[in-house]
Amino acid sequence: MRDDNFRPSSNIEDRRGSSGGDFGGGLGGGGIPIRTGGGLGFIIIVILVILFGGGEQLLGTSAPASQSEGFQSGAVGGEEGADHETLGASRVARVLGSTEDYWGNYFQTYGETYAQPTLVLFRGRTSSPCGSASGATGPFYCPGDNKIYLDLSFFDEMDRALGARGDFAQAYVIAHEVGHHVQNEVGILPQAHRAMERGGDRGAESVAVRLELQADCLAGMWAKGAVADIGAMEQGDLEEAIGAAQAVGDDKLQKNSQGYAVPDSFTHGTSAQRARWFRVGMQSGNFASCDTFKARDL
Ligand SMILES: [Zn+2]
Repeated sequence: MRDDNFRPSSNIEDRRGSSGGDFGGGLGGGGIPIRTGGGLGFIIIVILVILFGGGEQLLGTSAPASQSEGFQSGAVGGEEGADHETLGASRVARVLGSTEDYWGNYFQTYGETYAQPTLVLFRGRTSSPCGSASGATGPFYCPGDNKIYLDLSFFDEMDRALGARGDFAQAYVIAHEVGHHVQNEVGILPQAHRAMERGGDRGAESVAVRLELQADCLAGMWAKGAVADIGAMEQGDLEEAIGAAQAVGDDKLQKNSQGYAVPDSFTHGTSAQRARWFRVGMQSGNFASCDTFKARDL
């Protein structure tokens, strides 16, 4: 996949190193999420990455007292690991930027404005209005704050499982979570959650499964727009990517008074179903064709 044409998003909230369980917030002013605001923020990050050899501690920029601590802590991880993670974070920003461009244009076509979601990068543990995310939590979208939560170690595992094809799988995962945000933007997610709260919604044709398959279809719509950059997909690539994403983990149900994360871990469709709906979106490029709630045959 060639992602160098993608504009990196500035809606990345980097919490890596700020709240990792074992560190217990011991990194000075850790725990305060920093938004990398705008192009300038990105340039600063690039410079920092050059200066510090890919140190992963991009936090602490608003808390000078903790700055050096943070960077040292990043270096402890070893240069190889740090480089790898930096590549991962920049790819995430580019794929997210690509989804912003795609959905921004799509909403605009219908006279609507697309409110961009924020993507939180974390390692180990972090909190959200949908509950706390820890090591075992896969990526998830929290409608309570319109943020996508992503532990980069999830991507490390996908890389190990898929090798070079892992980058498409990563892009798919981000586009899928963005799909949940789009569902939230158009009001489908709150409706679906109300239906799920009424109970009795389980099984292969449940609202939860339809929600997941629609998010896959919306990911496919994005892929249609980005196809020149994604490159040709061979038969089986998609199923493999989706299978790997599911095997490593997926959105995890979390609930508290402020709302729900999107539940995937026990209510997603099969890899084949998910790949099929991804293709529906990719071929049609049309939201209406992604109506998994009306589909008789999933
Ligand atoms: Zn999902």
